[in-house]
Amino acid sequence: MNNMIEQLLPDNIANLKAYSSAKSEKITGTTWLNANESPFSRTINLSLDSLNRYPEPQPEAVIQGYADYAQLSTQNVLMTRGADEGIELLIRTFCQPKQDSITIFLPTYGMYKVTADSHDVKINALTQLELQTGSVAALVKEIGSSKLVFICNPNNPTGEMVSIERIKAISAQLGSKTLLVVDEAYIEFCPEQSAVSLIDELSNVIVLRTLSKAFALAGLRCGFTLSRPEILAPIRKVIAPYPVSSVVANIAEQALQPQAINTMREQVSELNQLKQDLVSRCQQSRAIERVLSGEGNFVTVKLAKRSVLSIAQEMGLIMRPFTLFGQDDWLRISIGSQAELNQVTIWLDAINQQ
Ligand SMILES: *Cc1c(COP(=O)(O)O)cnc(C)c1O
Repeated sequence: MNNMIEQLLPDNIANLKAYSSAKSEKITGTTWLNANESPFSRTINLSLDSLNRYPEPQPEAVIQGYADYAQLSTQNVLMTRGADEGIELLIRTFCQPKQDSITIFLPTYGMYKVTADSHDVKINALTQLELQTGSVAALVKEIGSSKLVFICNPNNPTGEMVSIERIKAISAQLGSKTLLVVDEAYIEFCPEQSAVSLIDELSNVIVLRTLSKAFALAGLRCGFTLSRPEILAPIRKVIAPYPVSSVVANIAEQALQPQAINTMREQVSELNQLKQDLVSRCQQSRAIERVLSGEGNFVTVKLAKRSVLSIAQEMGLIMRPFTLFGQDDWLRISIGSQAELNQVTIWLDAINQQ
């Protein structure tokens, strides 16, 4: 990098690695099962004649639609540019750089660390094993003085779930010194396990949601931060004045109509069924050593040999390799359409012969 620019950068920014995705690396493929996107694209009707005007900061119809859907009141709902902006706003609002920390449970979604690093906020890295097992008292001790605890539920990329009872116990023991953030990006695939009902009951619970996964609108960039009004109040001061465009608001409003929500639920049950089929094919495969099959629209597997990925690549089949538990031979497969998953079957058949 240019020396002058380098000298201008704070250490935490200079040390950041650029976020890399298949899209940013311009990988070519024909079957995209690497980003947990929905295979169902939707037709949207747009008629906008007021783009000369600034949008509503928090579009009323969208907030009302999401509040109805989540069974909350409108004052519990903040609309953001994807759930990723929700993560960023929480860290910017509640964490003092160089001083405060967030707690995460590895392996988990990468953006908690990326965002904390870019704001020079420390990371208290615990493990999914610690989160899932052991006493709540020990866990709360490990969380220590962290300002925010991120529980990804279901967890990306392992599919693990923490029960509502356990989340409730953790929240209660954390008390007023720590906020408990439950990232429910995949909750539509197991809606009965949502922690949203805890917002009313406990004073420190925040739930993150998105339209990117089950709602099939990853390209829209629309998410929601759900919590008590007093927790959302300082975030409302930090968020940009016009965080979502009128175009986004218009489409989000359509996606939250009762009819569209029914369609989403039908698609979710189809995807859950397709996942079961994929899980059993993976379990039968000699080329796969382990299958982590939990909730969410993805299945994560450990390959016997990492080299079988090149066969997928030759087929134009793009899945997401991961290093998990210190091993670089894990692979997350998003649940796409039947036709897309047939490509996975063809690949599995080929690597089983090896
Ligand atoms: C996909 C994902 C998000 C990001 O959602 P956007 O609304 O697209 O920003 C957040 N959390 C988890 C766990 C995810 O997998």
